[in-house]
Amino acid sequence: MKTCYFCKGPVAPARVDYMAQAHNQYVMVQRLAVERCVQCGEIYLDVAASREIDKALARAASPDSHLDVPVVVCAEP
Ligand SMILES: [Zn+2]
Repeated sequence: MKTCYFCKGPVAPARVDYMAQAHNQYVMVQRLAVERCVQCGEIYLDVAASREIDKALARAASPDSHLDVPVVVCAEP
């Protein structure tokens, strides 16, 4: 079994909602098949997952649905 690079926990297949970004384009890829650390939650993208993300970004102009995402800008220190 694969282990996590960060915490050495076990890595298992999982489905996650993944926020992808290319340039100024954001796409929420829902139910993306990835490998995820059971212990710390770190996500590992394999070739198939990367391909799904590329496909999702290419389809950004005609998505399955839209999200309204609140935006909060942090104050300067
Ligand atoms: Zn981990």
